[in-house]
Amino acid sequence: MNVGFIGLGVMGKPMAVHLVDAGHQVVVFNRSRPKVAELEARGAVGGTSPAHVGEKADVVVTMLPDSPDVEEVLFGAEGVVSTLRPGSLVIDCSTISPDAAVTIAARLAAMDIAFVDAPVSGGEAGAIAGTLAVMMGGEEEAVRRAGEVLTAVAATLVHVGPVGAGQLVKAANQMLVAGNIALVGEAVTLLQRTDVDVDAALTVLGGGLAASKVLEAKAPKMLARDFAPGFRVDLHYKDLKIALAAAERAQIAVPLTGVITQLVQALRSAGDGGLDHSALIKSLERLSGTSSDSR
Ligand code: NAD
Repeated sequence: MNVGFIGLGVMGKPMAVHLVDAGHQVVVFNRSRPKVAELEARGAVGGTSPAHVGEKADVVVTMLPDSPDVEEVLFGAEGVVSTLRPGSLVIDCSTISPDAAVTIAARLAAMDIAFVDAPVSGGEAGAIAGTLAVMMGGEEEAVRRAGEVLTAVAATLVHVGPVGAGQLVKAANQMLVAGNIALVGEAVTLLQRTDVDVDAALTVLGGGLAASKVLEAKAPKMLARDFAPGFRVDLHYKDLKIALAAAERAQIAVPLTGVITQLVQALRSAGDGGLDHSALIKSLERLSGTSSDSR
């Protein structure tokens, strides 16, 4: 298939590599040129603009930070739709608001271009391994076509409802991940203030009901004070705001998500928005007056 891929960041770069390795003709574009060159070295064609990608592709995948970025790449000056042919498909793997996904789908439908929102979970490690979980929203036929492309990057690929549904499920995913990180952070902070052997404690916690992928992946980063992203705090804040807006619209109270969003905001206020979201432990340590950074 002729696949366009736009957004070669932490997630997009390894995903695009998997598409090349799966045998697709892949044309890529990113705002900063060096990442395009890296993909060219892996067998992709380097695009010069989103419009150039649209000209070469039947399916365009976007993996960008937020809703305005996706809108700009698709509909802005030299955007994808200025060249993409009717009958093509756009798959947005970014995490954006469900409302934006619905609006984008409607604008594309008016040009006879299909759209699937397909946000992913599994982090950088899942993107590199090609084992992401992908939650797809869209019409049956569009989702079937999207699945043929995304199978190269995913271990779990599920159609969860109409356009926007993928983003709603991703919002739920981000509530679960943030809550889990916050409690892992609290538990680690507590254990570090005691005489407990923290490594031994984490081993036994990982063998019982408290085990989780978050515990497994994030507790070691907290202990090592290794907060290189990974998944940036600022991006998780964006996702929690999406979840709060979705809850408000559904008239559902999500008090824990509200508190955790505030803890994440505190982290950003302290200048830590560019760190990995495992840095949430720093917010909790500050509340307890423990100086994490001097440890
Ligand atoms: P990132 O910031 O590392 O990558 C984004 C890329 O898009 C960058 O290379 C940037 O140069 C490029 N870009 C931005 N605007 C552009 C534009 N207008 N034109 C062309 N290129 C542009 O972000 P990421 O961590 O790869 O995340 C991408 C999306 O995936 C986000 O919505 C994020 O919430 C979601 N996500 C991230 C993770 C993770 O662990 N990092 C996991 C799941 C989902």
